[in-house]
Amino acid sequence: MKTTIKKLIPRPIGNGLRRIYLYFRGVVYSGKLYFCPICQGSFKSMLEGGFDLPINYEKKIIGAGKRKNMVCPGCASTDRERLLYTYLNNSPGLLKPLVKVLHIAPERGLSKYLNNISKSNYISGMKYHEGFYYGKTSRLFDIQELPFENNQFELVVCNHVLEHVQDDRKAMTELYRVMQPGATAILQVPWSPVIEETIEDPSIKDPKEREKKFGQFDHVRLYGHDYPKRLANAGFEVDTVTLEKLNIQLKYQQKISVIPNEVIFIAKKPV
Ligand SMILES: [Zn+2]
Repeated sequence: MKTTIKKLIPRPIGNGLRRIYLYFRGVVYSGKLYFCPICQGSFKSMLEGGFDLPINYEKKIIGAGKRKNMVCPGCASTDRERLLYTYLNNSPGLLKPLVKVLHIAPERGLSKYLNNISKSNYISGMKYHEGFYYGKTSRLFDIQELPFENNQFELVVCNHVLEHVQDDRKAMTELYRVMQPGATAILQVPWSPVIEETIEDPSIKDPKEREKKFGQFDHVRLYGHDYPKRLANAGFEVDTVTLEKLNIQLKYQQKISVIPNEVIFIAKKPV
């Protein structure tokens, strides 16, 4: 229904209505307990989000499942978007002016932030999805076949995308190919700390079955402890970081409502 309505409303009007809606929602939720670093709003609470499925509890999936205080009332940023924003904002080495950025499936707040720094060197895009409002500058492409020359980008941001991609190994190889030697990719996925090997079965196409097995109707796998190994097989040097390692206090993490000390997967293309 929502998709049908979106298709009927031209994008500029849809975006305008969305802004007005978010403005008033932000006013209704204004308070002191939470702070969104992306829109700089202060709120009495954030909004609930995510899917409430048994597998999320059973497999203790990090980065998925129903969460209270997940979505910012003022800008609709999610906890994982605020996490990466905070990480990037505290990693000055990564974001120099005009840095060449590739942002896959761009989240609005992060996109604006990165675009302000990279200017004309910022490229974002994703696969076509019906009923989705694409940003003005966002391109349509398939991560399994990127339309870029080798060794182009200095920073790649790809937040909760690979779990949707049929051939994630091909996608990882493609990201690696288009990155400059020495470049960094931030490749977040939901994953389970209680499974060793990634669970996947390409024959499962039914959304209900996918929910049961992988934790969301459109996920094609559930990553386990072997996720960094998969990235390493594509050529990356993989490291993990948490906000705590960046000296960001737990109290602040709670205030911006991110999953406390969620691991951020950093994949570097060796020089
Ligand atoms: Zn916000």
